[in-house]
Amino acid sequence: MSVEDHGTTARGATTASDDDELFCSARGCREHATWGLRWNNPRLHTPERRKVWLACDAHREHLEQYLAVRGFHRDTVAVDALEPTDG
Ligand SMILES: [Zn+2]
Repeated sequence: MSVEDHGTTARGATTASDDDELFCSARGCREHATWGLRWNNPRLHTPERRKVWLACDAHREHLEQYLAVRGFHRDTVAVDALEPTDG
């Protein structure tokens, strides 16, 4: 992420119809996400609950590690395989 990225997007105002654009959850990353990292914090969520972080190829491992060391990581799937109810 660099400062020159600010304001240079050509996508215009964010709209609700933009939700097919999936971006990496890593801080400052604007890459398109290719992975969905599904996780659960047992202290906050019921066991069936799945939270999802999106990740690009470059950040998948980093984010998986972040969740794994906390015991939160459950599985990783391609974004195409994410279920609409995942959140
Ligand atoms: Zn990324």
